[in-house]
Amino acid sequence: MKAIQVHEETRRLYIDEVDGPSLTDGELLVRVRATALNRADLLQKRGLYPPPPGATDILGLEMAGVVEEGAGEWKKGDLVMALLPGGGYAERVRIPANMAMSVPEGFTFAEAAAIPEVFLTAYLNLIRLGALTSGQTVLIHAGASGVGTAAIQLAKARGATVIVTAGSQAKREACLGLGADLALDYHEGPFLPAVREYTQGRGVNVVMDFAGASYWEQNVSALALDGKLILVGLLGGSKAKDIDLGVLLSRRLQVIGSSLRTLSAERKAELTAAFASDVLPLFRDGRMKPVIDSEWDWSRAQEAHEHMEQNRNIGKIILNIS
Ligand code: NAP
Repeated sequence: MKAIQVHEETRRLYIDEVDGPSLTDGELLVRVRATALNRADLLQKRGLYPPPPGATDILGLEMAGVVEEGAGEWKKGDLVMALLPGGGYAERVRIPANMAMSVPEGFTFAEAAAIPEVFLTAYLNLIRLGALTSGQTVLIHAGASGVGTAAIQLAKARGATVIVTAGSQAKREACLGLGADLALDYHEGPFLPAVREYTQGRGVNVVMDFAGASYWEQNVSALALDGKLILVGLLGGSKAKDIDLGVLLSRRLQVIGSSLRTLSAERKAELTAAFASDVLPLFRDGRMKPVIDSEWDWSRAQEAHEHMEQNRNIGKIILNIS
């Protein structure tokens, strides 16, 4: 089959012939029709984020396509989408039957491929780990990122008040369009004063953070009593200085590190099943939608990666596998 490969020296992407996947019991073979970019792909391409043991080294953490060989409840011809440990940037991929979800009716493959990674990340972190409930307030950084656009919608569906940060006016407006209550441009100054003012000094119950070290101090200060900081990315560095542990203790704060990709197969399958029953119905009745920044033929994967590297996307970047 054809798959996207990474050139060893230049780290540029190109399509080449590779061996197709060989199935084991309980796995489906899927003809991939669309996959989507994730920030992790940029790191993996540069050799900085190796795939988990046993996973293919082909990039691609999600896909939508057509079942070619069925297993479990799935049969040939079914339209499925799934989270992957890797392998989405290819014509074919194998997935455990219990990781497949039905493509919502009427959705294109591109729309379906934009769902699994970012909505499951938002679900795991806001709902499971953050225990976000109706009436609480959440601060979501990089609100216009793929994960951010999913998190805003999930938090609003949960009945929470949503504050976001984003890096431009267009991104702020996109976040407000998705239902965010307050959108702050972090280039205009620290976000902490505005968060304090908006919450009348109480702070937020949950912070969903992708920046790490660069936001550590403001994030901790932005949390309300019993608040939770969910650390999902480290775009602003991993080593925070001058950590005052006393604040965590006296204000009963929790700091939770989270990585979807390294969860066991059993935990991923359980999360997928819970998401399919709790959240997928909201896509079917139009209350939630995948946010697509742009679609590219997979022969232009290199350009699509550069688009993400330049922080230009609002929502998901899709590769259509022609
Ligand atoms: P994305 O669509 O590429 O969006 C990332 C956005 O983050 C950028 O467009 C930029 O938007 C903002 N950003 C970049 N550098 C920043 C910095 N130093 N400080 C603050 N903001 C910065 O990314 P994605 O695929 O949705 O992923 C978002 C984050 O979630 C990434 O860190 C990714 O690694 C992480 N993630 C983690 C998991 C997990 O399980 N732990 C799963 C999925 C994704 P602005 O223009 O607004 O700055």
